[in-house]
Amino acid sequence: MERTFLAIKPDGVQRGLVGEIISRFEAKGFTLVGLKFMQVSRELAEQHYGVHREKPFFAGLVEFITSGPVVAMVWEGDGVIAAARKMIGATNPLNAEPGTIRGDFGVDIGRNIIHGSDAPETATQEVSLWFKDEELVSWQSSLSSWIR
Ligand code: ADP
Ligand code: MG
Repeated sequence: MERTFLAIKPDGVQRGLVGEIISRFEAKGFTLVGLKFMQVSRELAEQHYGVHREKPFFAGLVEFITSGPVVAMVWEGDGVIAAARKMIGATNPLNAEPGTIRGDFGVDIGRNIIHGSDAPETATQEVSLWFKDEELVSWQSSLSSWIR
């Protein structure tokens, strides 16, 4: 089953958007398989954003992502990688459609609330960078056997 890595950035945590964001992915029908509230080390931040190492915003990005706790998550479901990117919206919140997380809650490209893996290869890399195998839980809802 397809999995993606999502992280609520320090601005999302500090603005009290953790519950709202998790609710959206739950309500959509995806399955949470990994979750941790954590302080990101500089080393992890630099690895995670390694593809942007040469960009002018790299230092500020690493500074910000390590500035306060984040909520790191792995979500599972058919098509979850692309669907989560749609639900997150464009990188610049001013260009993100209303109804998306960035479109509904953000205005600043450097404070765009949430990260989501952009493709199957990066999803696999990011899930294993942020989570150990034993931190991920495969499970299925029993609702279908409780309610008829
Ligand atoms: P996304 O998070 O949508 O995948 P990118 O991978 O292009 O976007 O960039 C990673 C993160 O770097 C963005 O989410 C954003 O926080 C930051 N970023 C990107 N472009 C800029 C920019 N021009 N100025 C400041 N920060 C930026
Ligand atoms: Mg990206």
